[in-house]
Amino acid sequence: MTSSDHVAGREQETARAHAVPRADADGPPPWVAVCGTPVAVVQGSWSGRRGVGSDDVCPRCREQAPA
Ligand SMILES: [Zn+2]
Repeated sequence: MTSSDHVAGREQETARAHAVPRADADGPPPWVAVCGTPVAVVQGSWSGRRGVGSDDVCPRCREQAPA
C-alpha cells in the first residue's frame, strides 16, 4: 500500500496518530486504525504532519502503513 491509501486518525484519549484505511475513512464512524485501535477523528494525510509527522505516532501503524 502507498500513503495515499491511508489517512491520519487520532485517538481521542491520547491524541496519538494512527493510520486509517482511506476506504474506511470515507465511510461513517466508528473508524479503526490498521493496528486495531479505534480512532475518534480522521484528519488528513497519513504522510503529513498529522500522521507520521506528528509528535506521537503509533509505531504499529507506522510499520503497517508506510508513508
Ligand atoms: Zn495504530
